[in-house]
Amino acid sequence: MIGVIVFILIAIYAVFGYAERQKHNESFKMPDNTRALLLDNVPFYENLNEEQRLEFEDRITDFLQQVTITGIGTTVEPIDQILIASGAIILLFPFKGWRYNNISEVLLYKDSFNEAYSMEGKDRNILGMVGDGAMNGQMILSKASVRSSFKKAADGHNTVLHEFAHLLDKADGATDGIPDYLLSRPYVLPWINIMHKTIQEMKHNRSRDINFYGTTNDAEFFAVVTEYFFERPNELKEHHPQLYLLFEQMFTAH
Ligand SMILES: [Zn+2]
Repeated sequence: MIGVIVFILIAIYAVFGYAERQKHNESFKMPDNTRALLLDNVPFYENLNEEQRLEFEDRITDFLQQVTITGIGTTVEPIDQILIASGAIILLFPFKGWRYNNISEVLLYKDSFNEAYSMEGKDRNILGMVGDGAMNGQMILSKASVRSSFKKAADGHNTVLHEFAHLLDKADGATDGIPDYLLSRPYVLPWINIMHKTIQEMKHNRSRDINFYGTTNDAEFFAVVTEYFFERPNELKEHHPQLYLLFEQMFTAH
């Protein structure tokens, strides 16, 4: 029993950690026009009540004090900081006090890049990625894609939500499409079953609305459907009611 408690405490510490473990850049100040930028660009924020808006602002500030956004061959503008932090916090918003403990820096590339992190040459089709190994704690995002993700907020595609969904999935130690912190135990098997059933339907062309990239593997499926759930909840509910219910369960405080 004590072993289990110790294990759980270590797991909680490892994943979400404590403030003192994080380098916290208190000197980071939000731009003066933060509220205007949020209202103009982040529909999720626009739909919150005043109390929730203040909480959202606090949480994106906290995020940006924790995570440095570095431009690689491009400048980082206030709108980029706000959009990236918003995408991160939209996923965590139902969970009071949750923070990402597996990211310290976002590298912002001007546009899409390839497997060699090059913005020149061929196969530049990557819009974002979560670093592993030597790049643990880092994420790469395409600035063009960050901007268009929020400009077209209801098309079902959002690179920022996608990459932060991977981080949430990764928080339990495995990027495997099973986000342990979101799924309480009774929902794990139903989730795996519906995930595999839907991937098969997509491969056999019986389900065309979910981005086909989600058939790559379970982790991509979770990230792709996260985008869909937050951007087109009504469509997801209509076409995939069971999937929708599981996502609703995952992204509700529990
Ligand atoms: Zn992905």
